Amino acid sequence: MKRDPKHDILFEPIKIGPKTMKNRFYQVPHCIGSGSEKPGAQAGHRGVKAEGGWGGICTEYCSIATEADDCHRVSARIWDDGDVHNLRHMTDTVHKYGALAAVELYYGGNNSANLESRAIPMSSMGMPGEFEYLVYAHQMDHDDIKLLIQKYVTAAKRSIQAGFDIIYLYGGHNFLGMQFLNPALNLRTDEYGGAVENRARFWLETLAALKKAVGHEAAIATRFSIDSLLGPGGIEREESFRTLEMISNEGLFDVADVHLGTAAEWGENAGPSRFYKSGHERAWTNGIRDIVNVPVIGVSRETSPDDMAAHIHEGRLDIIGAARPSIADPFLPKKIEEGRYEDIRECIGCNICISRWEIGGPPMICTQNPTAMEEYRRGWHPEKFEKTKEPCSVLVVGAGPAGLECARVLGERGYDVHLREADDEIGGRMRKVVKYPGLSEWGRIVTYRQLQLDKLKNVELHLGIGKMSADDVIEYGADKVVLATGSYWAGNGSSCFSYAPIEGIDASQPNMCTPEQVMMEGKEAGDRVIILDADGYFTAVSLAEYLADQGKQVTIVTAFHSIAPYTELTLESPNLHRMMYEKGIAKKTLHWVEKVENNILTLVYSYRDGYKRTSGPSAIGEIPRQASSEVVELEFDTLVLCTTRQANNGLYNDLKARHAEWEENEISGIYRAGDCYAPQIIAQAIFEGHRIAREFESSDPRWPQPWIRERQMWGAETFPKITDREVNG
Ligand code: SF4
Repeated sequence: MKRDPKHDILFEPIKIGPKTMKNRFYQVPHCIGSGSEKPGAQAGHRGVKAEGGWGGICTEYCSIATEADDCHRVSARIWDDGDVHNLRHMTDTVHKYGALAAVELYYGGNNSANLESRAIPMSSMGMPGEFEYLVYAHQMDHDDIKLLIQKYVTAAKRSIQAGFDIIYLYGGHNFLGMQFLNPALNLRTDEYGGAVENRARFWLETLAALKKAVGHEAAIATRFSIDSLLGPGGIEREESFRTLEMISNEGLFDVADVHLGTAAEWGENAGPSRFYKSGHERAWTNGIRDIVNVPVIGVSRETSPDDMAAHIHEGRLDIIGAARPSIADPFLPKKIEEGRYEDIRECIGCNICISRWEIGGPPMICTQNPTAMEEYRRGWHPEKFEKTKEPCSVLVVGAGPAGLECARVLGERGYDVHLREADDEIGGRMRKVVKYPGLSEWGRIVTYRQLQLDKLKNVELHLGIGKMSADDVIEYGADKVVLATGSYWAGNGSSCFSYAPIEGIDASQPNMCTPEQVMMEGKEAGDRVIILDADGYFTAVSLAEYLADQGKQVTIVTAFHSIAPYTELTLESPNLHRMMYEKGIAKKTLHWVEKVENNILTLVYSYRDGYKRTSGPSAIGEIPRQASSEVVELEFDTLVLCTTRQANNGLYNDLKARHAEWEENEISGIYRAGDCYAPQIIAQAIFEGHRIAREFESSDPRWPQPWIRERQMWGAETFPKITDREVNG
């Protein structure tokens, strides 16, 4: 299929200062958990995007100095020649495919905790930052400002050595640039504070220094939040336009990369699909193209080629910036170029990728693309699969996320796959999830896989066959079997807070239900609903909104410190709290259930017992504190149980009990993928389905094959060495 000519504009080259980018697809800076310390993973992930057609690829934020160390999170660093060496691997890989490589120079000011370096950051003000606990910065005087500009220049020169084509001055998310530009964060009374012309001075001086030092060799970009979205409590759009105009008038940059929000609420930029659809930033960034004389890059989780082309045709943007769409589908540009629109694996806006960076340390993951960050360490390519040398027939039981992905990858690898689903539709738990308010885009998990399975002639899909028994599986005639039978919500109140079932809780009673019973089985909820949440992610809060929208009076009860704590990592939390406030959803945190009787829930405060432990062991059955018997009672009409999920492993257990019959029925292996092995987040269930299919010929696909671990090997040279220090006191 040929691409639609209306998308041709996306493939026109564009000049960015001294460089030319081959098309309009640009991967904006985003974190992956590799930095400069894991050069293989860094080059592997960015390189596969260059292969997939992205015209420009940027690093994550790249620290210029030891006092901008964002540990425990992983950023890139360009502190010394060792970092130059490692980042050079990324630029070489990206260049191999004709893409430009960009680096985002970063200085965190009072928003970098420096937990590794233990250095003290500098900032516009001697104030603590909003994003980290107890990070006080030293207030910069004029000498400090000159020194910091020099540090930027040194980092830019190293960036040239590392082979970068575009060098960013980055100030977004309330990092140092914003600590000068934002009037709420800059109360200086000298020529760097006050009117916008003064607050922009540091930014302009730094850009001028970069331009002079390296502007003939690399393009200079600037990236900052043009609106904190806090009204007078932050920087506002009009002022940012004025700053961009000043930079443009003085010819200090070659490309403008713009976005919205702050560090504390960067979900206003990396908006979860629950609240923000593609293009949500356009109303704020429209008009920039009229005031600057350089190309403009904007983000908004764009996945539609029509929308992308329209943004350029209609003068809103010159270059389509994307982070999450490039993670979910590194080959998005190539697929558009080749007219393979149905193969695009669209980002669902779940922000699980971001949650891993927020945790700090582990590599990024992606719900839609299980090969993200596995390119180097596991050798997985998002579009290529090694054909099996041991072809055979495989029965996959269950067409939820894990089963669909496993069947897809087994099919790509050349197995004869029979995917059998008890229900009339594929999707498993996704059929329930997409009904929650705001989560309809998560349905892309299923539609993408359905379209891919439709193309695979060696995969048969059988729907509506009812639950398979052990007899059915054994007699089916497959050589190997993968069970992906999913999980279910417990109906007895057991949870991570109290493993044992709770007295009086039973979802078979008319006044109690599990999420499946509400969403799939149509069990009616009464007017006063209490939702018990021991899961901590999206289910309880989504159900609360779903039921509140039906006019129910809803309360969420949890022993966590906050409602849906995992959503703090996915950036959904602030607007979920606003939603709950607006829709009158009540909450009771740090409480859990003692018993339920006659529509009365008896709750116990998590810390009700005395704060001083007894001086010695207490008698058996007694708590070693002053025990309290205080309880709280709440009345309800319906109790919804988001307490724990349990593996649907009955079929596996039946089959295991008949292990002796496998061989006589020529079954060489039965494996489990996803929730039926242990309940997971969706991303992990898909990953497990994918991994088992990639490693299907191993002696036991249950256990992952080794992967490359990038680490220092003892006895190898370090860089720098202890003897490189100027002094050792
Ligand atoms: Fe998109 Fe979710 Fe993948 Fe992030 S994890 S790129 S939001 S699909």
